[in-house]
Amino acid sequence: MNFELLPFLKSMLSVGGPSGYEAPIRDVITPVWQELSDRTWVSSHGSLHAMRYGLAPEPRPKVMIAAHMDAIGLMVTGIDKGFLRFTQVGGVDPRILPGQMVYVHATNCGEETLLPAMVVMPPAFLLPKDAGNKALPQKYLLADTGLRAAEVEKLVRVGDVITFATEPRELSGGTISGHTLDNRASVAATTVALDILSRRKHLWDVIAVATSQEEVGGIGAMGSSFDIMPDFAIVIDVTFAKGPGGGDTVLFDLGKTVTITWGSCDHPALYHAMKKTADEYEIPAARDFAPSGAGTDAYDVQVAQAGIPVVEIGIPLRYMHTPVEVVSIKDIKRAGRLMAEFIADLPLDFMNTVKWE
Ligand SMILES: [Zn+2]
Repeated sequence: MNFELLPFLKSMLSVGGPSGYEAPIRDVITPVWQELSDRTWVSSHGSLHAMRYGLAPEPRPKVMIAAHMDAIGLMVTGIDKGFLRFTQVGGVDPRILPGQMVYVHATNCGEETLLPAMVVMPPAFLLPKDAGNKALPQKYLLADTGLRAAEVEKLVRVGDVITFATEPRELSGGTISGHTLDNRASVAATTVALDILSRRKHLWDVIAVATSQEEVGGIGAMGSSFDIMPDFAIVIDVTFAKGPGGGDTVLFDLGKTVTITWGSCDHPALYHAMKKTADEYEIPAARDFAPSGAGTDAYDVQVAQAGIPVVEIGIPLRYMHTPVEVVSIKDIKRAGRLMAEFIADLPLDFMNTVKWE
């Protein structure tokens, strides 16, 4: 297959798929993963699984790569004179919402109707004095579809999801901006890994998982871990890149490195093994750290069954949980290559080295 990263990434960034409503993004990923794997299936939670069989005789060891495909979004909570009130699916930064172009996935007439809309706010003089000149709390924001009140009532109902309509945009310096780069940058990296592995020999079975419902609690990853029962798992998600307001916190340069996490959800032996691969192939890999909890699918994979050893890889990203997230294409390729080299080099007895010292 002739897999091209940029058009695939852009097609992923052009669809919605908030947690629990992943069908549109799953439909974009499925045909590409079908080409790069031996079989695909959808889990009971809606995660997409793609299996590449290894070359070793059965029973073979299995490695799972988990990259969540769901995204943050909004949900209609009420209709106010034809304007929509909403709440959040996952954590959206409300300061950046006014003026955003969105789609309302209207379902009141049975089949889904996609209504273009935008997030608006009342003029300052109509707001309480203390709200007028600051970033407005979400309770004052509305979505305007342009339709008359009666038409809105007919089409939209409470519980309909609202997704961002920001088109992906290539910026200068090999970076790209879009509304769901958390975590479609990682789905793209996982696809890069599958593509490399399709031209390499690997002894282990590899199961790529585009997990569902990460932003609302790692639900897809939990089910997939039980379904697949991997010997160990690679969890890949975005991490914080250096950007405005970052101060002295440890953040990572966009376009210069991927990260490997050192933390409570990560097996130290896997950390060291992944770092060794990165050094061997001269792939820059900085140490991220997560002293308590991961804030990713890592925990949900780690606690499945009797416990699954996890290693976490990160792609630096600016403006997390906004419709204008930014990543470097180079970092996506790096992360994909790191995972592929690591998996291609796995000896059959690798798990004998994943021990607590
Ligand atoms: Zn994420």
